Amino acid sequence: MSTPVFWKGSLHDIENAVRTLQRGKAEILCRSAGKRNIYLIEYGNRNYIRHNANYSSAAGALNPKYYADKSTPGYIPTVLLVGAIHGGEFEGTVAILNLISLLETGKDLAGNENHDILDAARGINLLLIPCLNVDGRARVPFDSFLGKDYKTFRYYSQGTWKDGSLCEWPDCKAKHPIKDYVDFLGSYFNDDGVNLMHDNFFFPMAEETKALLKLCDERVPDVTLHLHGGANTTSKFLQTNYVPEHLNKRIYELALRVKKAAEDKGCGELFEVCEEKADNGAYPPQSFNLVSACSHINGEVSITYESNQGLDIENRYKAEQIYTIYMILFAETFRYAKDLVSHAS
Ligand SMILES: [Zn+2]
Repeated sequence: MSTPVFWKGSLHDIENAVRTLQRGKAEILCRSAGKRNIYLIEYGNRNYIRHNANYSSAAGALNPKYYADKSTPGYIPTVLLVGAIHGGEFEGTVAILNLISLLETGKDLAGNENHDILDAARGINLLLIPCLNVDGRARVPFDSFLGKDYKTFRYYSQGTWKDGSLCEWPDCKAKHPIKDYVDFLGSYFNDDGVNLMHDNFFFPMAEETKALLKLCDERVPDVTLHLHGGANTTSKFLQTNYVPEHLNKRIYELALRVKKAAEDKGCGELFEVCEEKADNGAYPPQSFNLVSACSHINGEVSITYESNQGLDIENRYKAEQIYTIYMILFAETFRYAKDLVSHAS
């Protein structure tokens, strides 16, 4: 099945975007386990945040401003978008490359304008990682799961055990790093078999994890979105585990805004509002994952977004629907980051 013209999300497409930047600037965030470049692309003026203490110590001193004082005049709202933490979850990469095209040329990769998102992005420092797990991405020989069957999806996402059987979800997390247990290493993992979502955050194994945490610590984004695919789920946020309740409240608040904006545009059914709170009392316990870790390093909002992936199973979105709700999500997130900052000062 051929993908629409705007559906660009390969490693080659990312390199192309980096090479042709005029307004944004790119740097190599780090290199992957497989020695591939991971790019960070930036728009807008940045803050230079001085840390008098790390976040834990500032919280211990009962004042997060010792970590990052955002009440200073001229503070610039900052949003970080992280695509393809799992390499085969292409949708976020596609959305980010279209956002870059809009910011560069005023048109997306289909040649369409989107004044709403450009208006929302104005005045924001935007940090974009089109694909964090480039190793996993390199293992998938196509650019989307649109119209693909469930078996193909599982094979390329989670891979196969030594006996050739599919590493289903969630059993694919039962071995970590998984590399020595598999026949085909799925796109979930970097070349060392690390699932970045479940690294050991006190002693990170992957350079990719370290680089992302360092970025979150240095720049202290007001909102970080981790862009995932969730088979044919209705696109939604997952509440973040083990963070202070005021952050769960913000995540819920932003979810309501995205839902409202989608309804206003006649596509409310494409987005589902998350729970108000995380279920931190559950047993077996929820995992403290990469999203929790990013939130704990800087005390800010960090959210998992799960997109529909358009598989040939129930609740299948079209490429255009995946893209439409992504653009609404981005615009509302930018507006929300601005509101957070104006309320704080
Ligand atoms: Zn994922």
